[in-house]
Amino acid sequence: MKKTIVAANWKMNLLRAEAVQLASDLVNGADALGVYDRVDLIIAPTFTSLDAVNVVIGNTKAELCAQNVFWMESGAYTGEISPSMLIDTGCKWVIIGHSERRHIMHETDTMINMKVRLSIEKGLKVILCVGETRDQKEMGKTIEVINNQLLKALDGVNTDVIDKLVIAYEPVWAIGTGLNAKPEDAENVHKKIKDIIRSLLNCNDEKIRVMYGGSVNTGNIKSLVSQSNIDGVLVGGASLDTEAFIQIIKISGD
Ligand code: PEP
Repeated sequence: MKKTIVAANWKMNLLRAEAVQLASDLVNGADALGVYDRVDLIIAPTFTSLDAVNVVIGNTKAELCAQNVFWMESGAYTGEISPSMLIDTGCKWVIIGHSERRHIMHETDTMINMKVRLSIEKGLKVILCVGETRDQKEMGKTIEVINNQLLKALDGVNTDVIDKLVIAYEPVWAIGTGLNAKPEDAENVHKKIKDIIRSLLNCNDEKIRVMYGGSVNTGNIKSLVSQSNIDGVLVGGASLDTEAFIQIIKISGD
C-alpha cells in the first residue's frame, strides 16, 4: 500500500526556538498516533532552522526538507545554497518550483529544471510544484499549463528518477487564500498529471505520487485524501498550527 505523504511547508515563519518547539510537538504527536507505516511525514523549515530541526527529528521517521535550492554545487553564487549543503544539514527532500518562488522571485522553468536535475543527481528527493493561476483556470488552460511546466521541469531528467520525485499540484489561486480545489476537480488533474508522468518517465502508476496543496485544513483533508489519485498533501498555513496539523496527519493515516 502506498503511504500518504503529509508535508509541512513553514514558508518564511518561525525563529529557531519556535521551529524546534513545533517540530518536537509534531513528531511527538505523530509518534503517539503511530502513523508512520501509513504516512510519510516531511517538514520544511526555513534554511536557518534546518540544523536545529534536524536535531529534533533526526532520530524519528519524519524527514527534513528544504524550501529551495540552487542549481550549482559551489562557487561564486552569493546567498545561494547547494544540494550537497542541504544533504549535509540533514535534508532528504527539497521543494522546487513553489508558486511563490515562480511568481514573487520570478523563477523560470529553466531554473527549475536545473534545480531538479542537480538535486536528484546529488541525492535529494524532490517535491516539484506545478499549478495554474486563476486566469489560466478560467481560460480552461489548467492541463496545458501543467503539461508545459512538467515537460520543462523534467527535461533531460533520467527516466529512473520516479522514486526520488513527487509532484505537488498546487493551484496558485488556492495557495494561502482559503479557497481550495474541489476534491473531484483535483482528482481529475492528478489523473492527468499521472498520464503525463507515465509517458514522460516511462513508469507505472504504482510509483507515481502526486500531492495536492492549496489551503488544506482539518475540514477538507478527509475529502482530499480519500480521492484515489491524491497521494498526499503539501500544507502551508495549517502546518504552523500544532493541533490542526496533527489532526491532518491523523486523518491522512486513517
Ligand atoms: C503551500 O505553501 O504550499 C501551501 C499550499 O500553502 P497553504 O496551505 O497555506 O495554502
